[in-house]
Amino acid sequence: MDENPRLKLAVQKSGRLTDPSLDLLNRCGLKLARGKDQLVGFGENLPLDVLFVRDDDIPDLVQEDVCDLGLVGLNVLEERRLELAARGAVARFEKLRDLDFGRCRLAIAAPNEARFDGPETLRGKRIATTYPFMLGRYLQTMDIAAEIVTLSGAVEIAPRLGRADLICDLVSTGSTLQANHLREVLTVAESHAVLIRTPVPLPAFKAGWVERMLLRIDGVERVKESKYVMLHAPRSALPAIRKLLPGSESPTIIPLDGFPERVVVHAVCRENVFWETLESLKQAGASSVLVLPVEKMLA
Ligand code: ATP
Ligand code: ZN
Repeated sequence: MDENPRLKLAVQKSGRLTDPSLDLLNRCGLKLARGKDQLVGFGENLPLDVLFVRDDDIPDLVQEDVCDLGLVGLNVLEERRLELAARGAVARFEKLRDLDFGRCRLAIAAPNEARFDGPETLRGKRIATTYPFMLGRYLQTMDIAAEIVTLSGAVEIAPRLGRADLICDLVSTGSTLQANHLREVLTVAESHAVLIRTPVPLPAFKAGWVERMLLRIDGVERVKESKYVMLHAPRSALPAIRKLLPGSESPTIIPLDGFPERVVVHAVCRENVFWETLESLKQAGASSVLVLPVEKMLA
């Protein structure tokens, strides 16, 4: 019997990944007892506990087997991987899943008034970043010699302070850049949240729970955009209607009592259903169209 048969999962303590991470776990059925500011959240109904830490600590906690699993941005993982590689070491965390949150990109931005005519403009310039290894690799692949100014934060004010000519930072909407009179000029890398695991083999009980959690995560990701569509239609309109239902495989066709020419169609659509689709369905002859959210799905 394993001494501690509970899975330990590292999650960002407070930041952009915290809410979406907890939301994912909640959708996977985890009920977490967590006192405010507590370091560990106890899984009340599953053998899984959550450790709340700084996101930068997650790759090491997982590769050093302090935690079995971790939810972290690809950007943090990649930076750590390159940092280790620079020292001749190999990153040992394993990626289990790409997830649909924490989307952002590592981008180079220039002051609004500065000239920029493509990557060549970077030559000989000073670029401030908290991602020196990812920026370094990018510059290397572009064969550009520039000075990397490594900062620990507040990168976006570096040009105004005269510490750098450009910056390389994470961007999602671009509003922070705008507020600092900067504009995005190049994308260094795209990022999103990922689930990683320890390189150490897990005992059967824990491994079984990792598998179950993965199936649940896949189900959660699948239902996100999925909708259950129900409608009435004349039999003759079925071919047109089937074409209009986005991302649905084979809809269920049910006869309508007393109306031989009419049927009820039920379909799971794997894409969002927009008003435009509903209008087209109506034009094709559909009526009584209902669109319902899908809560859970197990393939
Ligand atoms: P910590 O205190 O945990 O070190 P942090 O300041 O490094 O926090 P956050 O700003 O909360 O981290 O960002 C955490 C992660 O969220 C990033 O590493 C990235 O993967 C993701 N992210 C998504 N959009 C953005 C964005 N616009 N800016 C920064 N990070 C983003
Ligand atoms: Zn961080």
